[in-house]
Amino acid sequence: MLVDHVPDADLSRPRTIALGRLSDKSWPGPLSADGVAARLGEVVSSLDDYYVSVDPRAKTRCIDGRHDPELDEANLGPQVPGGAPGSALAYRLGVDKDDLTRGTFTGDAELMIEAYVRLGLSPGGHRDDLDQADGVGCGAIDGLRAVLDCMTNPHLVEDHKRLVKTILDTDFNRDHYLRVMGAGLVLQSRSVAYFHGRGEILDLLERKAPGSVSVLRGRHCEAFVVVNLVEGTTLSSNRFAADLGGPQAFGYDLWRSRQLVQALFPLPSHEVDRARFIHARVMLTIATLMALTDGSLQVLLRLPADS
Ligand SMILES: [Zn+2]
Repeated sequence: MLVDHVPDADLSRPRTIALGRLSDKSWPGPLSADGVAARLGEVVSSLDDYYVSVDPRAKTRCIDGRHDPELDEANLGPQVPGGAPGSALAYRLGVDKDDLTRGTFTGDAELMIEAYVRLGLSPGGHRDDLDQADGVGCGAIDGLRAVLDCMTNPHLVEDHKRLVKTILDTDFNRDHYLRVMGAGLVLQSRSVAYFHGRGEILDLLERKAPGSVSVLRGRHCEAFVVVNLVEGTTLSSNRFAADLGGPQAFGYDLWRSRQLVQALFPLPSHEVDRARFIHARVMLTIATLMALTDGSLQVLLRLPADS
């Protein structure tokens, strides 16, 4: 659905661009936003009001749009899929030079959490308050096998590439894309062993960074996906959902992934690793949305004022 009335652009403020639905096709995930598209214009025009400055000491949050009872708007951490442990798979697929037939997600996530702590980037992750037969309650951790299946699914690959290209824009690199896709396919062949025991990662996170694990409340009602490129800002997710009276947003602070790679791979010679990690992170984010939603959510891009 196109927004037919956009207020006159104020070039000194970040811009919100509506990209339409995630897909015109039906994705495998259960979450649907049908019926909420009518509120797109309202969300586009007011989105900026829901973005606040991050507190660099605040724990990293997941993109999950559900209510966090302990969230304090003055101390919000940036949002990335799966929080800090979620970066581990992007590292494995995009950067790691080890043989892909070795290693476990838990081991990779432990190294990632330790790197966060060394670099002064407060790690974080979450559970939820629903009864979990199997899993911790974070779709970006519990569903990792489904995420990898979605990323390498031949029926979804066109959609996947289109969205990754849109989000990475001029940074998109076909060779990096294909390399990460190939690494995903190789890892998928042993995904049962690789992801075994991944639920333990939140206990580990709690031990290494006490107080870093949140417990989100209620059911998923995400109707929007916001990819935020305005450095140092993040979505006040509780207030957004409360004001809208239900619909939530997946908020991905893509600027944070760029900040993380700069810290993880700081040398000029690391340029390729930085680009590959960003590709893997965005590719896994899109695949996560494929595993969690039916493709009907509305996508918004939030760009810096001077872009
Ligand atoms: Zn999560």
